[in-house]
Amino acid sequence: MTQKIYNFAAGPAVLPRPVLEEAQRDLLALPETGMSVLEMSHRSRTIEHIIQSAEEDIRKLAAIPDNYRILFLQGGASLQFSMVPMNLLLAGGKADHIVTGGFAKLAFQDAQRVGQINLAGSTESEGFVRVPDQDELVLDPAADYLHLTTNNTIFGTEWKIEPQSGQVPLVADASSNIFSKPIDVSKYGLIYAGAQKNLGAAGVTLVIIREDLLERSPPSLPAMLNYNTHVKGNSAYNTPPVFAVYILGLVIKWLIGQGGLGTMAQRNGEKARLLYRAIDSLEFYRGHALTPHRSNMNVTFRLPTEELEAQFVKDATEAGLAELKGHRSVGGIRASIYNAFPREGVEALVSFMQEFERTRG
Ligand code: PMP
Repeated sequence: MTQKIYNFAAGPAVLPRPVLEEAQRDLLALPETGMSVLEMSHRSRTIEHIIQSAEEDIRKLAAIPDNYRILFLQGGASLQFSMVPMNLLLAGGKADHIVTGGFAKLAFQDAQRVGQINLAGSTESEGFVRVPDQDELVLDPAADYLHLTTNNTIFGTEWKIEPQSGQVPLVADASSNIFSKPIDVSKYGLIYAGAQKNLGAAGVTLVIIREDLLERSPPSLPAMLNYNTHVKGNSAYNTPPVFAVYILGLVIKWLIGQGGLGTMAQRNGEKARLLYRAIDSLEFYRGHALTPHRSNMNVTFRLPTEELEAQFVKDATEAGLAELKGHRSVGGIRASIYNAFPREGVEALVSFMQEFERTRG
């Protein structure tokens, strides 16, 4: 392969090159062990250390307060759609959900299968082009928690500030923008994120939970569905996704080495601005999300016709700009530019967009 490919996939997505190189180097044998990380018992000191270091590095990277526990779980972010209500709804309790996209809707629907869930706000009737304003939300001060999706991967919108929920704990699906910018964890009761966008490879889900909320889990829950099981087992109650946690640990170390979340926010902001500026300055392209709600992670836009969109994706792929097709539920173009996506790739896409408009517009 001589030509460089820029991978705009929405997840699993591009990983930092040094992480892949280190994983490749260590694949046959981790230093000083003579064994591959894929071959080791999850009860070995080495794997325990990998899990513990990943946790410590996350604490350092995101300044996670001591009264929060960090878990590495399986089942994807999708399992959290039901695990959250199973654990956090009090007996006879209720929760509020805000529906701002496809995954937010799935979270709402799954939670409804578990208990009483109220729709506190939705932008579905507008095609999910934005997230709601605070004064549009219908919040129940007696709710057990308020669930939101901090970045909407399919539609390309992002909450710029979290909604005010008073005493009601905020629960966030942060799958597609976790650690792309500084986060004040103390504002949340629980944060969850599938790793395969900003944190590493598919197979592990990060859960950050405030300790006092652990008391809510009913003892009747099956062990695997109870957060307390995983807290007590240090994320190794059963066999954890060892390799995925190992990769996540390398990505977190890479983020720290890059300068941390402030640096990532600055870089991600610059990358997104380059792309949105191209969309706004070229007649041919139309952004999907309303400007103040635009995501820095998933940039969604349309061309004048679906035929041109198909041609755009085809020509871009040939030019080494891969995975730009929008999600099947909305169509159009989606460029996912997570932490590990390089600025040069965004610059290459902007040049391609200018050229495509010049020749096809
Ligand atoms: N939430 C969001 C915001 C997502 O983008 C995704 C996956 N694209 C999910 C949840 C589902 O994640 P998983 O596939 O890990 O279950």
